[in-house]
Amino acid sequence: MSTNQKFIWATGMTKQAPTSLLYLNVAPTQVVRCSLEESGNAIARLGNRPLILGGQHTLATLASSLESVLEQHQLSYECASYSPDCSEKSLAKLSEAVAAHQSDLIIGIGGGKALDTAKILAHQCQLPVVTVPTSAATCAAWTALSNIYSDHGAFLYDVGLDHCPDLLVLDYSLIQTAPQRTLVAGIGDALAKWYEASVSSGSATDTLIIAAVQQARVLRDILFQKSVEALTQPGSQVWREVVDATVLLAGVIGGLGGARCRTVAAHAVHNGLTHIPAAHDSLHGEKVAYGILVQLRLEEMLQGNQLAASARQQLLKFYAELGLPQTLQDLGLGSITLAQLQKAAEIACGENSDIHRLPFKVLPEQLMAAMVSTRILVEGSRKELSLPAVEVEGCLSE
Ligand SMILES: [Zn+2]
Repeated sequence: MSTNQKFIWATGMTKQAPTSLLYLNVAPTQVVRCSLEESGNAIARLGNRPLILGGQHTLATLASSLESVLEQHQLSYECASYSPDCSEKSLAKLSEAVAAHQSDLIIGIGGGKALDTAKILAHQCQLPVVTVPTSAATCAAWTALSNIYSDHGAFLYDVGLDHCPDLLVLDYSLIQTAPQRTLVAGIGDALAKWYEASVSSGSATDTLIIAAVQQARVLRDILFQKSVEALTQPGSQVWREVVDATVLLAGVIGGLGGARCRTVAAHAVHNGLTHIPAAHDSLHGEKVAYGILVQLRLEEMLQGNQLAASARQQLLKFYAELGLPQTLQDLGLGSITLAQLQKAAEIACGENSDIHRLPFKVLPEQLMAAMVSTRILVEGSRKELSLPAVEVEGCLSE
């Protein structure tokens, strides 16, 4: 069963989201880089009765600035929380809120899950949608895709939407109030574009896919060059350049590449980990960043790929500078049981998992071995790369 079929069954929809080759969902209709207060005109052009969707904390924090913008433009608004998660149950409840308020516009404000909820709700109700990211942790503000989770936060499936948001409001001052850790996570998620797209689509001949893969390489290089400096100077020009990379350029790649430029093992590992409750304390991009190391480790172990081995060593150094997780321990999963690790690996190796876009077969036991050896040294690498010796914690494979 495809993810779209699942989605239709789950929501009773009769219209399938157009993810065929005929449709290109490259970018939001409009992207404005201004303060939330200055975005009123752009929002008011899209509707008069917005439903504002976010987490309870975000809605409470931004209530006064939002109110002044919306009242200034005489918009009759209602607020709703997406809690407990971007789940089928929340969506059913929110559809009722849309009907009760007779909303003609959805405004999503918050992190990836709030924005994913707003986008898919707008898609279901056939309404325009505005995304206002409050952190640079993902490119969810840009893309025509939503991830659906269980009420307990376990990843279930993703849904392709029929268009990118109608308006994206990028307010740097809002993003600057988010913990630094969210930008670090966004860097991890954005880095995955290159490591995954080059595997899933590296030999594609389609013009836009080639463009997407090359942009993923540009994105990786921008992050390698600017991230460390950006993190020491929040709010600076270089910091904005890195925010643009994680929120906008990462979205461009998803838009150009679409469904044919897919995630591979890094996101499959993330999806498996979300089924371990203790993994909910780490952010999406943190789990994905760790997943990149696992993917490279699989390429080393199962394919003898030496380029993957050096890429992993390069990333380990970069992660150390940024504070991105390198191991299960770093993700707060140092004391999970073997059974939990096995469960995550089995889910990541499930029949429809993107891990199978790797050019070789991966079994759960092999994935588990890769998951516990992300920091293992490559033969001779200590000398070549002048890396300090790294212990392999709890390694099952060696
Ligand atoms: Zn991601």
